[in-house]
Amino acid sequence: MHCVALGSRFRIPLWNPVRKKALTVAKLFYSSSSYHCAPSSVKLLSLLSDVRPLTTMENFWTSGSVDKNKRMVESLQRYGIIKSKKVAEVMEKIDRGLFVQSDTPAYVDSPMQIGYNATISAPHMHATCLELLKEHLQPGMRALDVGSGTGYLTACFAIMVGPQGCAVGVEHIPELASFSIENIKKSSASSLFEGSLWVHVTDGRLGWAELAPYDAIHVGAAAPEIPNALIEQLKPGGRMVIPVGTILQDLKVIDKKLDGSLSIRTETSVRYVPLTSKDAQLRG
Ligand code: SAH
Repeated sequence: MHCVALGSRFRIPLWNPVRKKALTVAKLFYSSSSYHCAPSSVKLLSLLSDVRPLTTMENFWTSGSVDKNKRMVESLQRYGIIKSKKVAEVMEKIDRGLFVQSDTPAYVDSPMQIGYNATISAPHMHATCLELLKEHLQPGMRALDVGSGTGYLTACFAIMVGPQGCAVGVEHIPELASFSIENIKKSSASSLFEGSLWVHVTDGRLGWAELAPYDAIHVGAAAPEIPNALIEQLKPGGRMVIPVGTILQDLKVIDKKLDGSLSIRTETSVRYVPLTSKDAQLRG
């Protein structure tokens, strides 16, 4: 289980009317030979072997990490994945390269292994989730990142909600939580750490009740069902983005209305690692 959080843009059947978008996104970083993709993605990419790369790997390797991160953001903007200035700004500010091991091609649009049967989600999935949550990540708001992994999105959330808000990452693998803290401390979010940005080792299915309710909840692993604790910890007016399912998964957008009722819609099909017990994850 090594490939997660693949956006449906790589998995859309070729007869789908949004195929054009799939093709443009797929060719965005096609120059890479380092895909860690699900077979379905590989299949789609192999159909695109005549696509000329728009950004060459040479560029990825020969310029500084800040430049590479900036170019990744520009590409995601060009292909309509990043739609807002707000999301572009935060993804420029938080250098993705600081959240993976140095030998990982950080700026390629693919999920990458981070150990413990987990991956960092692909840049387009991070961008998609930030776009979906941006109105609920205003300065002063509260955000919960369940299955925070590398800490990348927790850091983005912390920057967006600012020092008056709060961003909490919960991760059940202690080594990944420590890794994420090291990463956050190297990033532009470092000054917020343990002021308004927290990482806790716990079972994310229970959320983090101490700082609830949250305006925004992001879940970075696929739950068989939406955990009740997370619904309870979502503020009225708040939004949760969560992949739901086992083999077939949908990215669900859940809005809690002011009267406490829920509206649930499917954004796209995805493939994430499961939101499960620590033992089950380590067994693979
Ligand atoms: N958004 C993260 C995704 C990491 S992959 C990133 O891009 O870096 C999903 C993460 O969920 C893994 O780190 C995994 O260890 C974690 N996870 C899975 N089940 C969990 C659970 N029950 N509680 C907390 N974390 C969990």
